Amino acid sequence: MFSKVLIANRGEIALRVIRACHELGVRAVAVYSDADERAPHVRAADEAVHIGPAPSAESYLKGDRIVEAAVRVGAEAIHPGYGFLSEREWFARAVREAGLVFIGPPAEAIAAMGSKTAARQLAIAAGVPVVPGTTEALRDEADARAVAERFGYPVLLKAAAGGGGKGMRVVRDAASLGPSLETARREAKAAFGDDAVYVEKYIVGPRHVEIQVLGDTHGTMLSLNERECSVQRRHQKMIEEAPSVAVTRELRRRMGETAVRAASAAGYVNAGTCEFLLDANGEFYFLEMNTRLQVEHPVTELVTGLDLVQWQLRVAAGERLPFKQEEIVPRGWAMECRITSEDPANGFLPSTGRVRYLHLPSGPCVRWDGGIESGSEVTLYYDPMLAKLIVWAPSRELAIARMHRALSELVIAGVETSRDFHLRVMEDDEFRRGAIEIQWLERRLSSLLEAKAPEALRQIAAIAGALIADRERGAPRGSITAAPSAPAPAAAAWKRAARLEGLR
Ligand code: ADP
Repeated sequence: MFSKVLIANRGEIALRVIRACHELGVRAVAVYSDADERAPHVRAADEAVHIGPAPSAESYLKGDRIVEAAVRVGAEAIHPGYGFLSEREWFARAVREAGLVFIGPPAEAIAAMGSKTAARQLAIAAGVPVVPGTTEALRDEADARAVAERFGYPVLLKAAAGGGGKGMRVVRDAASLGPSLETARREAKAAFGDDAVYVEKYIVGPRHVEIQVLGDTHGTMLSLNERECSVQRRHQKMIEEAPSVAVTRELRRRMGETAVRAASAAGYVNAGTCEFLLDANGEFYFLEMNTRLQVEHPVTELVTGLDLVQWQLRVAAGERLPFKQEEIVPRGWAMECRITSEDPANGFLPSTGRVRYLHLPSGPCVRWDGGIESGSEVTLYYDPMLAKLIVWAPSRELAIARMHRALSELVIAGVETSRDFHLRVMEDDEFRRGAIEIQWLERRLSSLLEAKAPEALRQIAAIAGALIADRERGAPRGSITAAPSAPAPAAAAWKRAARLEGLR
């Protein structure tokens, strides 16, 4: 095992990797920008290196500076986390060329899966079913028109270099093809410096089901089974779970074998994810491979009992995977909510400010993977995902009840977050029945946003109302003497109470 690892990331994932290092007896080195000088990941690490100003382009994306820092502090390996440099082939190569270990796949595998069109070609050659569409970038609008007609509208324009839903446009008819192509190209160019766009048939009503794979350097590649990530907004995941209500044991085996085949074809090693669309008939189509640790990896950890980050480190250090495919059987149910600093009531606009107060949920089988604490400043420099709340329970029904309970305990004051929205999803009948697919959330959004304040929120409002009443009567701080009365509109009451308590 390594003795020192540098983590080229920030926020919750940096902390997650630091924890894995410490559990393995490895010293962890953090990197940080000006904005993160006092961030939790910096304090949790054994050493920390300043790498530049707040904007990521001048700090967390400065691969050369990060490799230099790793060499200088005597780290033997670099864990890239997700986002930032994690899927940059040149970075994996630079790490290797500096004589260090990149904790992830070989640069060649990142390159093979890096472009969506190249990944589709590789999948087809390996006999993996892909979403109908092209495997080459479009030449021009006439080409796009011909291709769209061949597959039939609606089609999806996708950036070959895409990620994070950027450069993706649904085209419903011939009239909107031209403008959509232009927008997709522009977005792709801005986000990835590459305006190559291709066409996929737009599949209506599928689920997003992905397979976690894990491979060692001795030729073993295993499937750690599926995650269901259909609850999405603008092609971005909001809630993930494992297993999936739509996956039978037989389908799990077939999808797992397919993912292992795709990963092996790319010469893959370490942890990775093959994403699929699964239609109502049980047919599945390869979308892409994410050549890194996923945000939603904890749900797999909770149902398999495997620590994925520890295994990433162990595999990178040359260890052999000691288990067999048959031994990996999901147990119980895990669910994850991404807690973002976005305001659902306001079109999910990013919210910024200081976290004035943070109360974390606890109790049986509740896990918080977060990168904030009371006093943290939430800025627009970085991703709005502040934390992940993850629960495990013996069944899906109990996992939903547990998530609801945990969300009810969570209090984040000072910035708007997606917490209340998640509570409403947990209370939704269709969600509870598992009747979800990738377009479900968008369709359900307005009714979810209108839903009456959930029970927990009404309780908070009642407590807030009592606090206000006390404060107005001049009662001492920290005591509630007035009986919680009929709730005022929840958000307003909470804000007033928080202001009176000096939280905002
Ligand atoms: P990105 O890499 O930008 O995240 P993906 O290819 O992973 O893009 O797709 C993101 C999401 O967009 C998927 O989870 C799915 O919800 C939706 N999507 C992608 N391709 C299709 C398709 N052909 N038809 C319908 N929805 C799709």
